[in-house]
Order: sequence, then C-alpha cells, then structure tokens
Amino acid sequence: MLTYVESAIRVYNRYGRRDNKYKARIKILVKAIGAEKFAQEVEEEWQYSKDGPGTLTQDEFDRVAQYFTAPAYEKLADTDASYEKHLLEDKAFARWVSRSVHGHKVAGYAAVTLSTKPGPVSPPGDATAEQMEAVADLADRFGFGELRVAHEQNLVLPDVKKHDLYDLWQLAKKAGLATANIGLLTDIIACPGGDFCSLANAKSIPIALAIQERFDNLDFVHDLGEVSLNISGCINACGHHHVGNIGILGVDKDGSEWYQVTLGGAQGNSTALGKVIGPSFSAEEMPDVISRIIETFVANRIEDERFIETVNRIGITPFKERVYADKQPRERAEA
Ligand code: SF4
Repeated sequence: MLTYVESAIRVYNRYGRRDNKYKARIKILVKAIGAEKFAQEVEEEWQYSKDGPGTLTQDEFDRVAQYFTAPAYEKLADTDASYEKHLLEDKAFARWVSRSVHGHKVAGYAAVTLSTKPGPVSPPGDATAEQMEAVADLADRFGFGELRVAHEQNLVLPDVKKHDLYDLWQLAKKAGLATANIGLLTDIIACPGGDFCSLANAKSIPIALAIQERFDNLDFVHDLGEVSLNISGCINACGHHHVGNIGILGVDKDGSEWYQVTLGGAQGNSTALGKVIGPSFSAEEMPDVISRIIETFVANRIEDERFIETVNRIGITPFKERVYADKQPRERAEA
C-alpha cells in the first residue's frame, strides 16, 4: 500500500501542474491524461519501488507499534443496566444515542460524536473557546484525555464507558454539543469558503446556514434518515462536495457567485462521485433547491430507504425535473 501510494505521488510529481496553484491537484492531472494512462504510469513506477526500502515489513510494523499503548480499559460487561434504563425511559437520550454513539471493540465502551452543528446559529464545525474548554474536560473525565476531530467537522470521544453515557450527554447538551443530527441532513460539511479563504469562488457558510435554517425541524430531519450534504467554495473541494449525497460547489461566473449541485456522491464502502444536475443557482435559490431535492426524495422513497439508495434507484432525472420545473429555458441557459 505504502509503495503504491508513493508511486502515485511520484507520477503526480513528474507530470502534475506544479506551475499553477489552481491546477496543482492530482485530479487535474488524472483528468488531463485520463484515468487509464495515470493508472498505467503508476503501475510502471511501482515496478521499481514495490519491494524497495519503502515496503512496510512486519518487523517495522511491530517496531512502531511498541510506541503505542492501549488505554487502561476496565474489564466491563458489554452493556450496563443504568444505561439501558435511561435508553428506555428518556426518548431524547435514546435519539442522541441512535445518532451519536458508535460501537467499540472493547466490551462496555462506546465512541461518541459531539455535534458541532447545532443549527443556523453558528457555522458548521465552529466551536467557541468555552466549548473547547468544556470538551477538554469531557475528554479528561470520560475518555482518557483523548479527543479526535472527524473530517465531518465534529469531535469524537473515542473511549467512553456505556455507564457514563447519560452523564456525558447531559454535560454535552449544556455545552451545546449534543444535537442529535450526526449523519443527517443538517450535519453539513462546509469549507470556510469566501468568508475566509482567498482561493474561494463563492461563500460556503451562508449557504450552509440558510439550509440549516430551512431544515430546522429535528423530527423531520430524523424522518429523512441519513443524507450527507457537502459544500465547497471552489474546485479545490476542501468540503469534499463530490462525495456528498448532495454536493454544492461554488463557481464564479462573470465575477458573481453561483452554486453547482451534484447528486449521488457517497463516501465509505460504496464511494461514488456525484453527478451535476444542471445549470448553477444563485445563493438565494439554494434553500429552495435543497427543499425540492428533499421533496423528490420523500415522494419517491420506498419505506425506510436512505436518500442515496433512492437516488441510485431512480437516477437524477426526477430530481432535476423538480428542481428546474419553473425555470424558463432562457433563464436556464443564462445560468
Ligand atoms: S474548497 Fe473552500 S477552503 Fe478549499 S480552497 Fe476552495 S474555497 Fe478555500
């Protein structure tokens, strides 16, 4: 794996557009020479390096592994009576657990995601200094002092005892970090965009906030099930819009900000790149565009199907027809 990745980087170094900061990306090179040619170059390069000094041997793996020690886990039963009781008696807690608590390889423990997406009150992924102080305390009290930042822009406590989940939830709620929306429509990934980034074509944060405001009903968002929505302010794609079930990309047209929408992207085991649904939209149009996409999903969804499953089953055409239904042909062409 290591030598293969190194080969890919070497091919990029040799042919990539290091001369132009807007084009200095592997994806630009892959597009320019074609995926097959790129893969062929990598394969050829790999013939020189595959058994070379970059190969990760078991001895090297073991040498490095000895510098890492597992936390001092307690020997616990897989579940905990008080935790199960709270789950049954407190619906809000059960809902939070269903979204934010994840399985753990050690019996009696769980990993917990703290949501930094409380809704339209602050940009996705933002946390105040007070919240970070609170999170540090939570990590010390509930997780061996360890804290991780997920690429979804949330915080993860990796080792929490199930017995402590109820207490943790109450403290996280007080700190504004327990919105039960992990993996749902309002768990938006947004890059800093034009508010902060000098490379941006368009702003990301106001779009994220407007969508969160439109979908501010947590019951409805829960009923929709898992939907990922990713926003990037330019083609550099720091918001990974390509792999959002719904992707939004800021584009510049004649000096003004527009947004291109993709559908069908996915990360994880069934990674896929989203497809562009058509001409781009103004910032003001974006909440309505997302509403129409969601309406199309709700109208076509079978039982508890996930958004991505519906998109894969029916294709992007029904979404496109609904989104562009009242756009005049001239308007569409101009956009
Ligand atoms: S994707 Fe966003 S953060 Fe990345 S370079 Fe573009 S505007 Fe900046």
